[in-house]
Amino acid sequence: MNQLHLYNRILNLTSPWSVSAVELNEANEHILVTVSFNKAAELCCPKCSQPSHLYDVRKRKWRHLDTCQFQTFIEADIPRVICSEHGVLTLQVPWADGSSHYSRMLENHIVSLAQSTSYLTVSKQVKLVVHR
Ligand SMILES: [Zn+2]
Repeated sequence: MNQLHLYNRILNLTSPWSVSAVELNEANEHILVTVSFNKAAELCCPKCSQPSHLYDVRKRKWRHLDTCQFQTFIEADIPRVICSEHGVLTLQVPWADGSSHYSRMLENHIVSLAQSTSYLTVSKQVKLVVHR
């Protein structure tokens, strides 16, 4: 199993989304997983599901669960579509909700940890700064 296939499975991605690159930055102990949207896929409005045209793409980045000791980030160019009824809208990605900067798996992990330990412990374990 190559690394692209491995991260496709880890992120549970299906068409039209797929991992196109995995970069290891040993100095920063980071892994950057680049996810691509198949440009041949039909684009639909996320509100009404009507076929829509590509408007543009926006690069976004999310923090994901760590890969061993390496902080892991997902980066993708997210298509925005133009719908005749709803205007310009961003497609929803399968690994995160709305405008969150964290993957759904990381958010679920944090919520699970927070149920049994303090926010300070959670922030240290996940290496996140807690704002209260
Ligand atoms: Zn629409």
